[in-house]
Amino acid sequence: MKVSIEKDYYKILGVKKSDKTRDIKKRYRELARKHHPDTNEGSKKSEEAFKRISEAYEVLGNAKNRKEYDKLRANGRKHRSNRSSGGPNEGYTDPFDFGRQYTRQGPRESQQDPFSQPPFADETVMDPDMPSRGFDLQFMVDVPFVVAALGGQIPYTYDKHVTCPECRGSGTDDYEDPCTGCQGKQRVVETVTLDIDIPSGVADQYTLKFPRQGGAGRNGGPLGDLMVKVCIEKHPQFKKIKSDIHSVVSISPELAEKGGPLEIQMLDSTTTIEVEEGTLTGEEFRIPDAGSTQPWGKKRGDFVVKFHIDEQSGK
Ligand SMILES: [Zn+2]
Repeated sequence: MKVSIEKDYYKILGVKKSDKTRDIKKRYRELARKHHPDTNEGSKKSEEAFKRISEAYEVLGNAKNRKEYDKLRANGRKHRSNRSSGGPNEGYTDPFDFGRQYTRQGPRESQQDPFSQPPFADETVMDPDMPSRGFDLQFMVDVPFVVAALGGQIPYTYDKHVTCPECRGSGTDDYEDPCTGCQGKQRVVETVTLDIDIPSGVADQYTLKFPRQGGAGRNGGPLGDLMVKVCIEKHPQFKKIKSDIHSVVSISPELAEKGGPLEIQMLDSTTTIEVEEGTLTGEEFRIPDAGSTQPWGKKRGDFVVKFHIDEQSGK
């Protein structure tokens, strides 16, 4: 991860330091729509703006990143990478640094940094008849907590270039005049919906790659890729710690004292557990193999019930 503390991300998004995450998200979506590269084709200014706001949102749109950024800005210290902080998702690699939210295909910048790509060469200086690869698109997607824990499919809607259906990508009509469907550009922008597979146990902020789901190329060039950065939504009741799911459950003083059966809502099912006699607040009950799936694995963590004795509890 790369955070630039010299940049004022609040100013870039036009939000206040006191704004809530959802206001920031709303603002980001407005700006992203306005500056989306596929709707501002060839505009270097829009492309740069899109990169800037994506970088800013990646920091401010995530509570953890935002807190760290605020802290670093306040301290004025140099940011140190926290990429190798260990944890259950150690070993995941995320080749997409901050600030590279939207990159188009181009020659590699240097051998030292294989993922670094220079900004796009202006298309007007390139041979217009050369095949060119479609745009790579990178978006952030909100993934429901349970889907991230157990895997699943979610529909994702985005804009991309598709080959013009009218001229089938030739850019000209039967009379060799520029095609009216695409004004000779061979491609048109279309809103598409793709069912994306969310691997079970995926980590927050992990980038999934969907080859050939990006923009269409020109002159027979290949399709770009779609990259989706996973933003796991908060759950009102559950918390994920490594592959375990923790849930605080309120019980009445009576049940705590005498013990008895208690129905528990788990990730995708319910179960009845036996509360022990004399249970205290903070005591745990572990249900094995009912937590989140481990990343790329089949094994599951535990579901951990943490009791909270509450006079108001109806249980
Ligand atoms: Zn056309």
